[in-house]
Parts: sequence; structure tokens; C-alpha cells
Amino acid sequence: MIGVLAKPEDYNVVREFFELFKTPWEFCRRDRHYDVLLQADGTSNDRPAALVLLYGTETTAFDEHRKRLPSAPRRNTTLLWDGDSIPLYDNAVAIAGDGAARDVTFADTGESVAYATHSRGRTIVRIGYDLFREIRYLLTAGQPPIHAAIPTLERHIALLRSWIVAAGIPVVEIPPTPAGHPFTVCLTHDLDHPSLRFHRFDRTTLGFLYRAVIGSAIKACRGRLPLSALRRNVSAALKLPFVHLGWAGDFWLEFDRYLQIEKGLASTFFVIPVKGDPGRTLDGPAPSLRASAYAVSDIADRIRALARGGSEVGVHGIDAWLDSGQASGEREAVSRATGTPTAGVRMHWLYFDAQSPARLEQAGFAYDSTFGYNETVGFRAGTLQAFKPLTAKQLLELPLHVMDTALFYPSHLDLTAEAAKTKVLPLVDEAEQHGGALTINWHDRSIAPERLWGDFYLDLLDELKRRNPWFPTAAQAIAWFQRRRAARFETSRQSDGSVRTRACDDGAGVVPGLTLRMHTPKVSDGPLRATRRTEYIDAPVADSADTHMAVSYP
Ligand SMILES: [Zn+2]
Repeated sequence: MIGVLAKPEDYNVVREFFELFKTPWEFCRRDRHYDVLLQADGTSNDRPAALVLLYGTETTAFDEHRKRLPSAPRRNTTLLWDGDSIPLYDNAVAIAGDGAARDVTFADTGESVAYATHSRGRTIVRIGYDLFREIRYLLTAGQPPIHAAIPTLERHIALLRSWIVAAGIPVVEIPPTPAGHPFTVCLTHDLDHPSLRFHRFDRTTLGFLYRAVIGSAIKACRGRLPLSALRRNVSAALKLPFVHLGWAGDFWLEFDRYLQIEKGLASTFFVIPVKGDPGRTLDGPAPSLRASAYAVSDIADRIRALARGGSEVGVHGIDAWLDSGQASGEREAVSRATGTPTAGVRMHWLYFDAQSPARLEQAGFAYDSTFGYNETVGFRAGTLQAFKPLTAKQLLELPLHVMDTALFYPSHLDLTAEAAKTKVLPLVDEAEQHGGALTINWHDRSIAPERLWGDFYLDLLDELKRRNPWFPTAAQAIAWFQRRRAARFETSRQSDGSVRTRACDDGAGVVPGLTLRMHTPKVSDGPLRATRRTEYIDAPVADSADTHMAVSYP
């Protein structure tokens, strides 16, 4: 059990952090003994615990006593830990002197940012940054695109876990992995342009013609587009008048082809509720280009067919992020079209602000999936896990990680298929390592001319399937994360010195089960070394029953 001492203004961050690192913990009580004390309140009060993790940048009585004062604070630094980078966004300090941990250092100067000391049977690790300020930053502002590839929040959890294990103390947790799978993948599709016929000679059509003919020719000349694709695009452009006359098939109105492409896997479609409304920004009207050429009612038959095929239909919001009344209206419009209440939302163009989660949950949404990047792919919140934004009471945020337009648009990453693969696969590797839900957005018309990004998507699906993730709808993934959040631990020390941990889980049957994981402690006489890899054993948490795990503490 971890006892936590934190600043009162960080209590909400602490609570959310320990939903993501799901391990037994509580705010420190005077009458309790803890194996691990996580102290991040700016003090260093002497409390009994086998391991004290002292996070913070201010000088404490402990530092003065040890005569090792932290350096002047620095901002926007990067830690190096066992070969991995952990960007820091708030103050961080170096802690110099003998015995400093060489395995946690500033990437640029090589100075140590942590050190461990043993005295009177306990270990104290002094760490020169403020864990909960870092977590707050990740869950609110999110990381700048330059650090998008780094699952920073997951690495903070991994580093904390490693210190505990390295100190000879086991860690019990419920990892973010659905039983039977190493991670989750949420396949999603924003429906921005579901039909060519909704566009007469507007900017979308002109853009299509330009990219299909001139853009494709330039790409083909540069060897970035096969000639067969150029032929397909030019022939699609020539067909355009006949599509409008009704003499040729509408090759954008094929988004339900995803049902065949994703056969056997669930996916989620986000549809726009209203036509012709660009919506608003915080400063006034949004650009007119943001207005949709269709409303959900225009494609109601196809949407209902998607739902019958097992797909989820959510709202692709216009002003929902800005106003809870509008959010209710947009939710009702989509629910009416599908005939079932809609649980989820993702904003068109990823419009969002800090108060959006509160407005959306007031309108009845259970989750949002907007938090991601337009211009790149990766982990804006530094995590693969659905989390509760600090302004929300119930609603979970399912972060968006991979969007097709970010990979291939000339104004964004502008990658070839090969380069896009080397950008995306490391994100999949991180999902395999940390668990959580990798969320992908492939737009409706991305499998049609002139984008022709369908082959890349098929290859990506094959690669994902090979790694055996769970492929639920977004709402099912959220139900799983809610189930994990609802699980409770009980720990009790036995007469033989071992500790019994009990996990209680009432979410029987709806979604895959939970796993109880114990990381076995490292036994070492040398200096404390937090290494990335830990050994663990897993036990399934039984549905609606208690699962026990006996853990022996040193
Ligand atoms: Zn959109």
C-alpha cells in the first residue's frame, strides 16, 4: 500500500493518477503504516515507511540535513531513464553529489535528477521534479507535438513502479490490459464528406479535382505515387460530372465498405448532426470551410445499417464543445437518426477547451475522443489510457492517437506510406508495452479517390491483428475502463508476514475481465537501480467475486 502526501491543490490529480496506475494507495493517515510513502507536498516529515519517494523541487529539511541542496530549477527539460526519454514541463532540479543515481539524468547535461540513500533500514529516493504537476500538465494542456511519440504519463508510472520494485517491495496493480489481450485498439471514422453529391462546385470539389489530377501527377513524377493510383485518380476526376448526373456511382458514398474491411472487428463512426453550420471558436465564427455539406438525417438509412452491423455511431460535434445546450441538441439529432441514445462524441477539427468535458457530460455524453493532434500522431496526454479530465465528474476522455490526415496531408506530416509506417509502428509498440487503448481515426473518404489510403489502412490492420489486441467500439472500451476504475483493492497483513490483496470487481460479463498483476521485487545488494523491465505474475480477476493474491514483503 502506498501512502501519499500531496499538496491539497493536487488532490484531484493524485486521485486520477492512481486510476491510471491502479494500485492500492490512500492519502496518508497518521495511524497507518505504509510500505511506500510517496511524498510530494514540499516537506520531508519523518514518517515510518520502508521506502520514501520524495518528489519535489523545493529545498526540504531532508536536503539540508544531507547537505545536498537541489540546483536552481530548470523548465522544459528531458530526463533520460534507462535509455528512455521523459519530457518534463514544470520545474526540475539536479541533485548532485556522491551516490547520485546515474540512471535518471537530464538528457542535455547528464546531471542526476534523483538519488537513493539507505539509513536505519529504510530507503529514501529523492527525486528532483514534481510528479503531480507533470501529470496535471499532461491531462490538461497536453504535450507539444515535438514529444508526441513519447507516452510520458505511462513512463512516469513505470519509473515509480521500478523504484518500488528495486527497493525490494512488490507492486500489485490492475494493468490497463483487457483479459486475454495485451492492449486495446479503437478503430474510428469521422464522417466529414460521406458523399460527393453533397458537394456541387464548392471548395471541396475543386480541391478534389486539383489533388486528383495535378497533385497526383506531381506525386507520380516524384515517384511518390504508383502510376496505377494516378490512373485511378484521373479516371475518378473524369467521372465527376457523371456522378452528379446520377450516371456513375458516388465513389465517396462507400464509407460502409469499412464493414467489410474491418470484418469481425468493431468500429465507431462519428457523424455530423447539422448541415451548413461552421460553428464557433472562442473568438467568433469558425472558418466557413468547417461547415458540413450534410446532416446526419441525409444519410440516416446508411447510419442505421452501420449500427445494425454492430458499429457504434457517435456525434462528430460542431459547437458541442463550447455549449452544453448545443451539445444536447447535437446528441439528440444523432440519437434520433440512429434510433438509439448516443454515448460518445469527437469534435470536428478537434475543437476543444478545458471546460469542454464538463459541458459534454452535462449533455449526457459518457465519453469524448477529441484529445489528440491535428498535425501529428502520438500521445498528446502522454497516455494510452482513457482518463477522467480534471473538470469532469464522470465523463472519460479516450485520447486520439493516429489520424490519417496528420500522416498524409501536405500541410501536416506529408509522409509516404513507408515513412508513415515507421511513424505509426512505434506507437503500436508502446501500446504493446504499456497496455491501454490505441485510438485510430481513418476518415470516411480516405479509402476512395483521390486519397487512396485504403491499402495503408489494410496493412496497419493486419499488423495490429498480428499482435492480438481487443477491438471494441469506443463505448465498449470506455465501459472496460469504467469497470477497471470501479474495481477496489483490500489489503490485509497476515500472521506469516505476507499481505493478502483482494480485488473486487462487479462488472461481470459486459466486457473482458480484469487482471491482477504482481511485480516481483528485485533483490540486490548494490545501489538502487530503477530498470525498465520488471518481472511479474498475472491472475485473472474473477467476475463478481474477490480475487486474492498473497504477497510476501521483505
Ligand atoms: Zn471532422
